[in-house]
Amino acid sequence: MLIDRFHRRIDYLRISVTDKCDLRCSYCIPQGFTEFEKPANWLSFADIERVVGAFARLGVSRFRLTGGEPLLRKNLSQLVANLAVLSGVEDLSLTTNGTQLSRFAYDLRHAGLNRLNVSLDSLRRECVQTISGKDSYEQVIKSLQVARAAGFEQIKINMVALPGVNIDDIEEMVGFCIANGFILRLIEVMPMGKSGWKQDYFNLLELIENLRPKYQLHKSNRIYGGGPAKYWESADGRFTLGLITPRSQHFCATCNRVRMTVDGTLYLCLGQEHSVALKPLLQAGCSDAELEQAIRQAIDLKPEKHEFNEHPEKIIRIMAKTGG
Ligand code: SAM
Repeated sequence: MLIDRFHRRIDYLRISVTDKCDLRCSYCIPQGFTEFEKPANWLSFADIERVVGAFARLGVSRFRLTGGEPLLRKNLSQLVANLAVLSGVEDLSLTTNGTQLSRFAYDLRHAGLNRLNVSLDSLRRECVQTISGKDSYEQVIKSLQVARAAGFEQIKINMVALPGVNIDDIEEMVGFCIANGFILRLIEVMPMGKSGWKQDYFNLLELIENLRPKYQLHKSNRIYGGGPAKYWESADGRFTLGLITPRSQHFCATCNRVRMTVDGTLYLCLGQEHSVALKPLLQAGCSDAELEQAIRQAIDLKPEKHEFNEHPEKIIRIMAKTGG
């Protein structure tokens, strides 16, 4: 088992398979950004499989593929198929912006992907375009339909709450999620990179007080994945809402996850710089035992908490690099 210095059990690894994205969401990748990792530095599928195997032997059972936009990485379904059969991999999920998902949903499902998170910040086409820099709304809606038809039962919609931009769209999104059986996850903006720094966050704890009576929401103890969201359910069981509140109420005391970038750097906290490069070790032909030892040592570096409120301009790397 992986236990860090603060007695937290680490059982979740998020893997960025590319830092590139076909969208430019206002809070994520800055317009004109060009500092993407060179393909020559990307971890190969074989190396990703080795790292996942090592984490699984150390008791980590949940894995999420993310990015950047993970579906821009060629043959991703093949990676999913290879990871899904590894001993100890119990939950394999993907976070996507949905622009390419309708093409790949069936392959991903057949390959063994369990769950999907799809990002969609509004149901107004022009608002999606304003936020993401692209007229992607129709593609995402189509992807959601295809994903459901492909057999994905648990689909979560990730919606970043942006003051003055999409807050008034939340109720419509609630209705959409109820009608389609999607779980809605609202996210407070994190100050990651210049794009994140300049965004105000919307306090979701205040929002829940408004939504609560209307949908008769009560706190849920059910587990809807390995992430940090706190879940609420409606009295009739038709609606589940997850709140990710890194700004208004951080959840570092129960943090159970670490992240690996496309070049094989393990980041121990989204909001701190502590990291360990695994690629040199893999390239040097390390043994499984050496790889596991490097991961154990990395976990010892995991910091107690982020400082998004205290030092909002501390993290210069954008979310797409670390893997959200
Ligand atoms: N491209 C995929 C997508 O859009 O879902 C996966 C990567 S994206 C970085 C993962 C999630 O992080 C998305 O839901 C996105 O909205 C969220 N995100 C990106 N930057 C963020 C920020 N600064 N604060 C909060 N969430 C952010």
